[in-house]
Amino acid sequence: MSDCLFCKIAKGDIPSKKLYEDDKVLAFHDIDPQAPVHFLVIPKEHYQHAGKVPAQNGEIFAHIFGVIAKLADELGMDKGYRVVTNIGEQGGQTVHHLHFHVLSGRDMTWPPG
Ligand code: 5GP
Ligand code: ZN
Repeated sequence: MSDCLFCKIAKGDIPSKKLYEDDKVLAFHDIDPQAPVHFLVIPKEHYQHAGKVPAQNGEIFAHIFGVIAKLADELGMDKGYRVVTNIGEQGGQTVHHLHFHVLSGRDMTWPPG
């Protein structure tokens, strides 16, 4: 997707503060953090959102959650954290490339707004 912001970040065409990268995923700090720790994990392949990943590509979810667990360990997020993926307009999605928010460093409220 040539006009997709996160595809451009995944390719390095737009800079980001990277936390982790491999051939399948990239983790980078959110530009507008909503918690003391707030980073995003994205697949390098473009999917519109979590509901648009074909079943045969579902291993990307396991890989992403493995990366999140590794980063949580490395960053000392032992008190807990929240993982969020927004889907579509009512879900609050603004960038239409699958991404997982990881938020930590403060108490989270429930229900979310
Ligand atoms: P959404 O609302 O789609 O779930 O989340 C999109 C997230 O991407 C927001 O938290 C927003 O702050 C973040 N974001 C938008 N543009 C950029 C950017 O250029 N760089 C980074 N690092 N984050 C961005
Ligand atoms: Zn994209």
